[in-house]
Amino acid sequence: MSANKSYKTTCSYCGVGCGIIVNKDNNGTLKVTGDTENPVNKGMLCSKGMNLHYVAQDTTDRILYPEMKWSKNHPLKRVSWDTAFERAAAVFKSIIKKHGPDSVGFYVSGQCLTEEYYLVNKLTKGFIGTNNIDTNSRLCMSSAVVGYKKALGEDSVPIAYADIELADTFLITGANPAWCHPILYRRLEAHKEANPDTKFIVVDPRKTQTAAIADLHLQIQQGTDVVLNNAIVRELIETDKIDIDFIFNHTNNFEDVKKQVFETSLEDAAKICDVSLDDIRLATKYIGDAKGFISMWTMGLNQSIIGVDKNVSLLNISLVTGQIGKPGSGPFSLTGQPNAMGGREVGGMANLLAVHKDLMNPTHRKEVSDFWGSNPINPKPGYTATKMFDALDKGDLKAIWIICTNPVVSLPNSNKVERALKKAKFVVVQDISHNSETTKYADLLLPAAGWLEKEGTMSNSERRISYLEKGIEPPGEALPDVEILWRFAQAMNYRGFDYKNAEEVYKEYCKMTKGTNIDISGLSYQKLRDLGTVQWPFPSEDSSGTPRLFTDKKFYTPNGKANFNVAQNIYNQSEQPTDEFPLILNTGRIRDQWHTRTKTGKVKRLLTHISGPYVEINEEDAKARDIEEGTVVVVKNNRGTARVKAIINKDIKKGSIFMPMHFGKISGSDFGRANNLTNELIDPISSEPDFKHAVAQVTKFKKE
Ligand code: SF4
Repeated sequence: MSANKSYKTTCSYCGVGCGIIVNKDNNGTLKVTGDTENPVNKGMLCSKGMNLHYVAQDTTDRILYPEMKWSKNHPLKRVSWDTAFERAAAVFKSIIKKHGPDSVGFYVSGQCLTEEYYLVNKLTKGFIGTNNIDTNSRLCMSSAVVGYKKALGEDSVPIAYADIELADTFLITGANPAWCHPILYRRLEAHKEANPDTKFIVVDPRKTQTAAIADLHLQIQQGTDVVLNNAIVRELIETDKIDIDFIFNHTNNFEDVKKQVFETSLEDAAKICDVSLDDIRLATKYIGDAKGFISMWTMGLNQSIIGVDKNVSLLNISLVTGQIGKPGSGPFSLTGQPNAMGGREVGGMANLLAVHKDLMNPTHRKEVSDFWGSNPINPKPGYTATKMFDALDKGDLKAIWIICTNPVVSLPNSNKVERALKKAKFVVVQDISHNSETTKYADLLLPAAGWLEKEGTMSNSERRISYLEKGIEPPGEALPDVEILWRFAQAMNYRGFDYKNAEEVYKEYCKMTKGTNIDISGLSYQKLRDLGTVQWPFPSEDSSGTPRLFTDKKFYTPNGKANFNVAQNIYNQSEQPTDEFPLILNTGRIRDQWHTRTKTGKVKRLLTHISGPYVEINEEDAKARDIEEGTVVVVKNNRGTARVKAIINKDIKKGSIFMPMHFGKISGSDFGRANNLTNELIDPISSEPDFKHAVAQVTKFKKE
């Protein structure tokens, strides 16, 4: 980076996608500021984004060159890139020859750039011949993907952040944007300050920071979201607050949903959800009276064994009120990671194809393989995230290539994940630093370039694509992930991977989108440099992007109408509390940490908010266990234990406990790891894990 130069990029943490300007002064010091011209954040940054310069400059723990074990019992030793690619290709070829293409898999991340996501999918689905490519985005938004597809015909977020300032009623459910999407929350706060009559309904079993904005906080019993959403639809119908014209002309299946919602009385719904009847009626009144109604949600709905049902029941509220396809209204699932949306666009999951094509559709498979000039695409869906590690554990999957994610801390039932990785014949870990618990299982460790060290694109929660400029050279021999992937493909002797740079990969992907509902064939790196950021579709060079979808009320279903969907499971199917494990563990994020802390854990300033793992417990549950504030406790169930400090309050419902999901090894132990306890149940359609509902017991820690 030359002196006194500025670079435009995007924050590498959450799905809000804030624009960032990086400056380097004459001393070579990086400074990060919010991009005032970016419509997402208008110059604002949260604590994590503000400290990105520290992470970008810190080279401690960085993986500087490829390291390889010559056999399982040998330590990792430095090797050249050529040796690393030769070995990786030789092992993959040999395993595929002996056990077939479904014996290998790739597990990637919502932090990968779109070009990387695209290429690893092309490599795996087009050339290796397996759909065993999945992502940690499976853990945060796959239920929303299915919900959108069922209701709207495709995985398409209908609205834009700009709709926030046009809405007058918000339902924030299963989300804590005050901590997890802070700049988005600041926009909500500012809107409320400027328009005090704006109504906010917050649904969450915990009284989180987000509840501070609520005109009405519905502190529901964990897992009862479908019952509540159905009760709201019922009450909207009963109070005649529905949009008959929209329902009649633009939707399918209304009568089926109507039948279901009338099967549960409002009184019973209130009892099941453990909220008052009046509060359900008030929430419904706010929604029914809204001129512009937006629902926002994340993990509280998605991370559930009935995550799809929770999503479709929420989407029914937007459809019954006709609050979609017009300014200031629509359902808005927030993405957790910075490029979870980009991954969805390029088909970055075991059951998806690129450009929203359907893996189960033979014509679509042929279109994709023809475009790539590849082998026919395998019709069998690949292993989804948790199933990939199950398959490793059972020996069905022999080799796994892990890119930019730390499954040893982030997947449910961590102890099983570690066991599975120990059993694997060959583990490749491609990451930026040794500061990830997963690297210790690598047979081949590949150094990747980090944020600001490579160029590429990402898409945020509102379908906004941004170009990330390269500003600094990666340390040591680290390479951009996209280059590592095409060089491996070349070592495998696959055709069509002779790229020179990320821009060539992006050009190919843009071309592939032509004529689809996510057409960005008019887009290029130069266009993004010129325009800043744009929302897809962007079908021609003179396009200005598409902030809002479905303004013509034409949905992506066969008959162009949106679908009401009947929830298959109204009641929670999660683990049920027992005498031995009477509490329900909920896990989630805290304000100043990101995922498994491989980056934010290095920033001292970010530890001043919350410095370590803890369990939040209701004061009555604490008293019954003789637990005081700060007492060291053991959280336990049949899968594992965690040893953490107790935080006691009234903000969490009696019978529930909460642990942050970020913490892994602390001082050489795994005492703070919440995923020691989480269960392996998944939604049967989306395969998203049930992270927010594991049974557990809490007792005071006693020294042996
Ligand atoms: Fe980064 Fe999200 Fe914070 Fe914006 S809100 S600065 S994208 S972490």
